[in-house]
Amino acid sequence: MKVLKFGGTSVGTPQRMKDVVKLITDGEQKIVVLSAMSGTTNSLVEISDYLYKKNPEGANETINTLEKKYKKHVEELYTTAEMKQKTLAFLKEEFDYLRSFTKGIFTMFEEKIIVAQGEIMSTNMVTNYLIEQGYNATLIPALEFMRTDKNSEPDLEYIREKLKVQLDENPEKEIYITQGFICRNAYGEVDNLQRGGSDYTASLIGAAVNASEIQIWTDIDGMHNNDPRFVENTSPVNHLHFEEAAELAYFGAKILHPTCVQPAKYAGIPVKLLNTMDPTAPGTVISNETERGKIKAVAAKDNITAIKITSSRMLLAYGFLRKVFEIFESYKTSIDMIATSEVGVSVSIDNTTHLDAIVNELKKFGHVQVDKNMCIICVVGDLDAENVGFESKATEALKEIPVRMISYGGSNHNISFLISADDKKKALQSLSDHLFNN
Ligand code: ASP
Repeated sequence: MKVLKFGGTSVGTPQRMKDVVKLITDGEQKIVVLSAMSGTTNSLVEISDYLYKKNPEGANETINTLEKKYKKHVEELYTTAEMKQKTLAFLKEEFDYLRSFTKGIFTMFEEKIIVAQGEIMSTNMVTNYLIEQGYNATLIPALEFMRTDKNSEPDLEYIREKLKVQLDENPEKEIYITQGFICRNAYGEVDNLQRGGSDYTASLIGAAVNASEIQIWTDIDGMHNNDPRFVENTSPVNHLHFEEAAELAYFGAKILHPTCVQPAKYAGIPVKLLNTMDPTAPGTVISNETERGKIKAVAAKDNITAIKITSSRMLLAYGFLRKVFEIFESYKTSIDMIATSEVGVSVSIDNTTHLDAIVNELKKFGHVQVDKNMCIICVVGDLDAENVGFESKATEALKEIPVRMISYGGSNHNISFLISADDKKKALQSLSDHLFNN
């Protein structure tokens, strides 16, 4: 069984919904995870904000605007009067339900229920369309099987068991539609997997049914080998190891969030990133396989601050690094890159909320130098130490650029360079030219 996930823009207009239907009606049995129509979750958050601020008029206005949009969508999507009627009646109940929250007390419990309605509406609309068009489809409600435990972590055992019940109830269906993002918590209350959580839903469902693959459909042809906003001639990466994808996501590439793909990674299920605008393009496959001897992609992380602590006291001393790191820990500031020498240590951080306090405390240990407006350039691929020459290729590309720090060997998949943000574009372009375009 395959699991396919489509985001908000893929179901954002009647035409886009029809395009999705074309992609999911190939006769194979599958589970389809849908987001809310684009903009809807934001509107639902807006409604909640009005209600927190005790402004029911504002909330009602947003509800009315949203309702108009949905009614228009229904008029354009369905061909039969019967299905139009049925869907409009369903939506009327939905919008009346939303309006009911403008009257009583409003807490985060109500907010969770409100933001869940976007996915509930989009999935019902697509299922109705499939049924109208004669496809063998059914809706399986995520609130019946998607659940988090007391630590707010997905309860995979529960999900597996309850999802099976849902699928077994309709064993002969071709297409099972379900909601991304929404779930129940350990107490059975409506909850969600955080904004953008539909990818996580797809990954969890994939792991729960031991899917043959998980497809994440978006508007781009997979993951590119460099940032197309800064670099010319980028091209899609055909394959990434889960670790490589995680490194790239962390360093700013627009790709799945690492936690989202974790269930798929542990279950060993490949995740494909595909493009609804170009469905036959190969996209990017993320799996547990390493493609030997290849540099895959480059990404940059902005707004980095570098801090260098030099101290003769570090010379031959033990415990020095612990004391330095404890300062960052006490200010809940995580460190991205580290480089050490016998007389100093350099670190980079991206959260500067407590920078002044951190620097003040670090001064106890020696001289402290702070460089702001830096960026981390990260080169990802099979960078195992056995692959001689790969680091030199990357450094060769940066030979014209002042490099403040280098980090290599932290994983087998990454080499990172800290440079001034002013040199970012030049560095990215040069890396593309040296690593991919020759
Ligand atoms: N609809 C939710 C959001 O906009 C979840 C998702 O689309 O992944 O964040």
